[in-house]
Amino acid sequence: MAEDRSFKVLLASPRGFCAGVERAIEIVDIALEVYHPPVYVRKQIVHNRYVVEGFQNRGVIFVDSLDEVPPESVVVFSAHGVSPAVREEARSRSLRIIDATCPLVTKVHLEVLRLVREGYDIILIGHAGHDEVVGTMGEAPGRVMLVGSAAEAALVNPPQTQRLAYLTQTTLSVDETAGIVALLRERFPAIIAPPKDDICFATQHRQNAVKDLARMADVILVLGSANSSNSVRLCEVAVKQGAKGYRVDNASEINPDWLEGAACVGITAGASTPEALVHETVNRLRAQGATSVETLPGVTEDVQFALPRSLLDAAREARGNG
Ligand code: SF4
Repeated sequence: MAEDRSFKVLLASPRGFCAGVERAIEIVDIALEVYHPPVYVRKQIVHNRYVVEGFQNRGVIFVDSLDEVPPESVVVFSAHGVSPAVREEARSRSLRIIDATCPLVTKVHLEVLRLVREGYDIILIGHAGHDEVVGTMGEAPGRVMLVGSAAEAALVNPPQTQRLAYLTQTTLSVDETAGIVALLRERFPAIIAPPKDDICFATQHRQNAVKDLARMADVILVLGSANSSNSVRLCEVAVKQGAKGYRVDNASEINPDWLEGAACVGITAGASTPEALVHETVNRLRAQGATSVETLPGVTEDVQFALPRSLLDAAREARGNG
């Protein structure tokens, strides 16, 4: 058993919360302070069980559909964004909307609208059923085709190929997406790319960091929930680099057998995973034989996204400073 062994631990950098997740969580924090529970959130605010359960304990009610929200209540849209149809439904039910959509997701929505206005059909590279994909496709029903893999890219059949563009979900595997794009370019030479990569900076940085980690670690633990797209991608990237990769929600899910024979265990965390879960995991590994813990060097992220003006105004008023 791994308990008898000694091994070292390396932490990826950057890891964990991105700017969009920090912003979404702060929005719900302020909404609770200003409007008091219950505050409704449509879908999980970010795809992390620990974050969601923490908010549930503080009076947040997560719903899948707006018809579960009583009229005139406060409802927060999650970081993954919503379609115009959902916004319209919220307005028709007189709900007070607070939008926590990540600005980088909004950027993709705006690209859809611009391209459709210019007469393009769009191939969206992304995963069927993911909240972000559902919201993005809802911007232009019938004009966006979804492709989730190279196999699907080989079969997709757009209505015309002269004015064709591709966009991507923000949290995909950079390398896998490059392969799909190459295939689309081969099939549709006129296809145009987004002006700036849609896979967001946080996703790219965390994937680069896990590749660095995989050069040194035999086993990589990725902290993140099963429905967190970027966490699942991190695990895939680690495995592709030759490490044994395991995604876990928290330290209690680590099977000691996974660490058998490992001289170096790496840890990273998806963009929606709190750092507290990394600390807990490090402590668990120390108890199982970790002799040293080091953080790898990596890029520093200093991106911050502004909070919604209307929420800041409401907070100022509620705090008596308005
Ligand atoms: S992963 Fe990227 S797109 Fe998603 S919330 Fe974070 S910064 Fe925004």
